[in-house]
Amino acid sequence: MAGIYVHVPFCTSFCTYCDFYSITQLGKKPLYLEGLEREVHRQAEFFNGVPPTTLYLGGGTPSLLSSEELSRVFVCLGTVFLRPHGLSFEQLDEVTMEVNPDDVTYERAVFWKSLGISRISMGVQSFHPEVLRWMGRRHTAEQAIRAYHDLRRAGFDNISLDLIFGYESGVGSDVLAAWDQDLAQMIALAPEHISAYQLSIEPGSKLAQWVQQGKVRELDPELSAQEYALLQSRLAAAGYLQYEISNFAKPGRCAIHNRSYWLREPYLGLGPAAHSFDGTRRWWNPEDVQMYAAGEGVVSEDLTPRDAFNEQWMLGLRRAEGFPLASLDPQLYANVTGDVERLVRQGSLQKSSEGYIKIPSEKLFVSDGIICELMLD
Ligand code: SF4
Repeated sequence: MAGIYVHVPFCTSFCTYCDFYSITQLGKKPLYLEGLEREVHRQAEFFNGVPPTTLYLGGGTPSLLSSEELSRVFVCLGTVFLRPHGLSFEQLDEVTMEVNPDDVTYERAVFWKSLGISRISMGVQSFHPEVLRWMGRRHTAEQAIRAYHDLRRAGFDNISLDLIFGYESGVGSDVLAAWDQDLAQMIALAPEHISAYQLSIEPGSKLAQWVQQGKVRELDPELSAQEYALLQSRLAAAGYLQYEISNFAKPGRCAIHNRSYWLREPYLGLGPAAHSFDGTRRWWNPEDVQMYAAGEGVVSEDLTPRDAFNEQWMLGLRRAEGFPLASLDPQLYANVTGDVERLVRQGSLQKSSEGYIKIPSEKLFVSDGIICELMLD
């Protein structure tokens, strides 16, 4: 299993909470596309003669690419990574594109489908108008719902929608009731997959400034925890399986591409700010379209056995089923055996009879703290 990630670093405005690398100078698209084509050819041998299994276009906002621009990206990727194997995009396990609701029309959705895109991930974030306003989203709730139905009409039968929780602005006095309304609306739409992220105050974001200036208050963590518990119970009752801290899917609809991140399988990241991993080394492109297009500013890091060990905990424990303890380096594991046994006794970790270690679902909300206890310096 190995996938390709393509970062499309363009947005027409910035959401208040966002810290992804993105720019609003759409005039840099030609430069970006030239750089991307050059990088694709440089990385032609990344998969060592084996075809990739998934493709994920994220951002930024990939749906800001015109039909011609997207076609150019697909022709380039197909020529280099699929044609030598006689494959088409339709034959990959999954081809996902992130879209913004305000970019979706029925005609565009039909075109995306014709490219071989099999899965759409769309940021809805909330159905409350006030919330969408302070988040700086470029769409209304009605637009998101219309976009969802346009995608369905165009034939997409694998759609993921995102929600955000963990704030009090714009929802009135009853945070939990407002969140419950969002969940009910989401369940009524019945997407195959739902991602729900807790709002985090990222340094450098507009939101971080607002918090510093006292314009926005952080939500009481106890209330966030209650929202998370409500999320888990409402989605379970609606037939969604929780397979990762923030991800829920109807049976058989878990995201395939992201799985490779959590299992530490190789992936190739293309585009400015994109990260790649070949099994032992990670590297990432500069957060600058100009430098990226010139092939400059790539930073790489060889992982030590200790780095790999820490990553296994950090990534493996995000998954609801955890990961096999036997995959850990036994010598390094000896350093934390006592902590593992203590956390198992406390109910913060569980071992399965198949040798997996995981965080029980009622503790997933505090997973960061649990994982920290297992990191080696
Ligand atoms: S659309 Fe996505 S990438 Fe662009 S600013 Fe909003 S959250 Fe960030």
